[in-house]
Amino acid sequence: MSSLTAEQLKEFFRRLTVAKAQIKALLDQTAQDSRPVDLELPIGRLTRIDAIQMQGMAQMNRQQLDIRRQQVDASLAAFDTGKFGFCRHCHQPISFARLEVLPESPFCVDCQESFERER
Ligand SMILES: [Zn+2]
Repeated sequence: MSSLTAEQLKEFFRRLTVAKAQIKALLDQTAQDSRPVDLELPIGRLTRIDAIQMQGMAQMNRQQLDIRRQQVDASLAAFDTGKFGFCRHCHQPISFARLEVLPESPFCVDCQESFERER
C-alpha cells in the first residue's frame, strides 16, 4: 500500500505533467538551435517549485533530458497501474521526502545508493 494520500498523489501527478511539458519544450527548443534556453516558455502558470525545477532542467544536455523524459513518462504510466511511489527494484514505498525532491525517482534511496556504489 502506498503511504501517499490522494491529495499528494494528485500533486505529484500535476508536477510530473508539468515536467513532461517542460522537457518536451526544452527538447524542441534545443533541437532548433543552440541558443541558451528561454526560461519563459509558454507552458502555462508555473509555481515557484516548477520554475526552480525548470531552471535545473534547462542546464541539462539533451541526453540527460531524454533520460529524464523517460523517467517522467514511466512515473506517469505508474499512476495507471497504481505503482507510483514504489521502488522499481525492491517494490517498497519511496519516501515522501524523496518524491518531493524528485517525483520521477524510479528507485528508493537504499536501492539508488547501492546502484551508485556498484558503479
Ligand atoms: Zn528500492
